[in-house]
Amino acid sequence: MYNKSSLLFKESQTCIPGGVNSPVRAFRSVGMDPLFISHAKGSQIYDVDGNCFIDYVCSWGPMILGHSHPAVNDAIKKQVDLGASYGAPTEKELQIAKIIIDAVPSIEKVRLVNSGTEATMSAIRVARGFTGRDKIIKFEGCYHGHADSLLVKAGSGALTFGAPDSPGVPQDFAKLTLTAEFNNINSVKNLIDRNRGQIAAVIVEPIPGNMGVVEPNIEFLRQLREITLNEKIVLIFDEVMSGFRVSFGGAQALYNITPDMTTLGKIIGGGLPIGAFGGRSEIMEHVSPSGKIYQAGTLSGNPLAVTSGIETLNILKSKDIYLNLENKSKKLTDGMKEIISKTSIPHCFKRVGSMFCLFFTNSDVQNFKDATTSDTALFSKYFKLMLNNGVYLAPSQYEAGFISIEHSDKDIEKTLNAFEKSIKALSQ
Ligand SMILES: *Cc1c(COP(=O)(O)O)cnc(C)c1O
Repeated sequence: MYNKSSLLFKESQTCIPGGVNSPVRAFRSVGMDPLFISHAKGSQIYDVDGNCFIDYVCSWGPMILGHSHPAVNDAIKKQVDLGASYGAPTEKELQIAKIIIDAVPSIEKVRLVNSGTEATMSAIRVARGFTGRDKIIKFEGCYHGHADSLLVKAGSGALTFGAPDSPGVPQDFAKLTLTAEFNNINSVKNLIDRNRGQIAAVIVEPIPGNMGVVEPNIEFLRQLREITLNEKIVLIFDEVMSGFRVSFGGAQALYNITPDMTTLGKIIGGGLPIGAFGGRSEIMEHVSPSGKIYQAGTLSGNPLAVTSGIETLNILKSKDIYLNLENKSKKLTDGMKEIISKTSIPHCFKRVGSMFCLFFTNSDVQNFKDATTSDTALFSKYFKLMLNNGVYLAPSQYEAGFISIEHSDKDIEKTLNAFEKSIKALSQ
């Protein structure tokens, strides 16, 4: 059924570490070979063996308009004929900066980079340069890309492989990264008390999506804002996943909580490589060349990525799609809940807008520790059953599912049928 994929995977392993260019793609935690993709359109993704699946990975979040959106494709094609990269400023960079600044409450100035990892890495540097302090606080299970200071208790990929602290990250760097528990404000207060005047930044996924999906307690986020203000600590919302996903202005607009800095990625490139970090002018003015904190990129503000991003964001804005996404996502997860509730299979659903996760546990998942009570062997069986029934999910318990505007009522119905069959097989 997946023969061509397996052959390509075998050969890829001779040329690429583990056969993939990003670890979770290797399907290791579900114990099978990854699918090699030939193309994708709307809500459907096709592998090289000719199988077609309803796609809930959506390239790990960016494809909120569905794959191969005609207007986005046309815009990219037009830009290709004008040149792929100049290494000089363009009007389109100004355009996307304005869209981002208008949409995201905390951002007064913004710098474009090429990935979410670069965005968070740079935001941390700016927070350190701005405050003159070295330590940062992150939350267990939150993932902020693979930069050294942030690869500590980092969820998803690292979590899936049981190696949260990677070799190659110097102990001296890791020492500067303190970890607190998500949804637990006292764990943050304790760290601040013990390191008063030394914390440059608190970085958080306001809606964690890299330990599965965890819903924030809004009071927790509010208190986080209050404490960091009092202590003059830069609060960074990492909205690489939640930005333009849970609402046009991200989690900060949804919950009406304004951080000092924000990192973006994924959706703002509409499938092309991009990232961004921004925040209050007072802070961003310190970034080179207006200030002394160095940050640069040969391909930053790349015309193709920026074009794809502008087109994507303009469509998101004009169609006001978020209510529609909410309704569709609710229909899907409500339907799944109804089916699984009739069995004795442990389960806990978490969903914010069109980000969702089914944990195979009876714990109410509030943080990383709760997430790890999930039965990952059961997940692995579930994943394969869903795949064989035409549904492509992220190949790990600790990832989010995403819904795009192209997921139709019929797709949801088909998914629920596949789910019913899979759950029936699992409970036998
Ligand atoms: C995906 C992600 C990143 C990393 O982005 P890359 O483009 O993969 O480097 C950082 N933070 C969060 C919250 C993410 O979901």
